[in-house]
Amino acid sequence: MADRAYNFAAGPAVMPEPALRRAQSELLNWHGCGMSVMEMSHRGKQFAEIHAEAKERFKRLLGVPDTHEVLFLQGGATAQFAAVALNLMGAGPASYAVTGNFSGIAAKEAAKYGAVHIAYEGKDNGYSRIPGQGELDVAPDSAYFHYCANNTIFGTAWGYVPETGGVPLVCDMSSEIMSHPVDVGRYALIYAGAQKNIAPAGLTVVIVDKAFAGRESAATPQIMSYAKMIAKDSMLNTPPCWCIYMLGLVLEWVEEQGGVAEMDRRRRERSALIYDVLDNSRLYRPHAEPGSRSMMNVTFRTGSEELDAEFCAGAAARGLLNVKGHRLTGGMRASLYNAMPLEGAKALADYMKAFEVEHHV
Ligand SMILES: *Cc1c(COP(=O)(O)O)cnc(C)c1O
Repeated sequence: MADRAYNFAAGPAVMPEPALRRAQSELLNWHGCGMSVMEMSHRGKQFAEIHAEAKERFKRLLGVPDTHEVLFLQGGATAQFAAVALNLMGAGPASYAVTGNFSGIAAKEAAKYGAVHIAYEGKDNGYSRIPGQGELDVAPDSAYFHYCANNTIFGTAWGYVPETGGVPLVCDMSSEIMSHPVDVGRYALIYAGAQKNIAPAGLTVVIVDKAFAGRESAATPQIMSYAKMIAKDSMLNTPPCWCIYMLGLVLEWVEEQGGVAEMDRRRRERSALIYDVLDNSRLYRPHAEPGSRSMMNVTFRTGSEELDAEFCAGAAARGLLNVKGHRLTGGMRASLYNAMPLEGAKALADYMKAFEVEHHV
């Protein structure tokens, strides 16, 4: 096996090698200041620079308008399931499209704080597809409409931004943030656990329209208050300093590579290699319906659990790691995030073809 394997894990996940090497070279002594980023005060001049630069880069890359604030928080996307409801739900109701595991958990969490209206539920199709616009039943008086843009476990993705008739949009973009251009101004709020596509675990990025801050219910913990976090520039308490530093290095890499438009081009290229094998196979069965396919997480199975296990073991032996599917779906899942080299997707596609030739009867 080469020095670095191809890691298809869903998250924490592959990071760009240049970012890791930069971190390595700066680990003991950041920019001549005599200490590691891990050892700095979060209130010091050096970290203030790291924080501000990461934030500026994030805003620039995604084209975040001045109406919106970018927050670097903790607690994962899971904390945002509660924070969104506590901050934005008001008297409710809030509408939720359930297209997979995480959107289901988000809806359940929100229901602790107010009335949740299920605008769509995909359980009957095994979360293999995304609803069309006409299938969405958004309650017109909703405080917001919540959806998950890319379903990490089932491997489906919304190919469009839903129309809600004026109901504010809230989106979980954990597994696709920074993989394509987004019209941020259309959203009241976007959030993402950073460990899928942009940083190590421990950081959650929230992009919030400032007009929606300050509406939280009285019982909202202060670390979940968007208004308080905006007022303190995400530093109400100690932020995840190391993760913010790594985010900055990853975004520097994204920018050098050509930004989110180039990330979008690459994800199409990578995922097409795998879907092409699936579409021409008599062995593999893709989980997602063709119009709902994710370009970040490709899910498939052989139909035999033994063969799936053999596939995963053979992949690992070739340095293609973590292709086992989530326990909810079984089968296989190849996560193809920004930092996955095209060569990694090619190596997986080649292995899939070779495995089929070897095993198809
Ligand atoms: C991983 C994931 C989550 C959960 O994220 P945590 O950071 O572990 O809380 C939520 N939503 C989506 C889409 C995810 O991929």
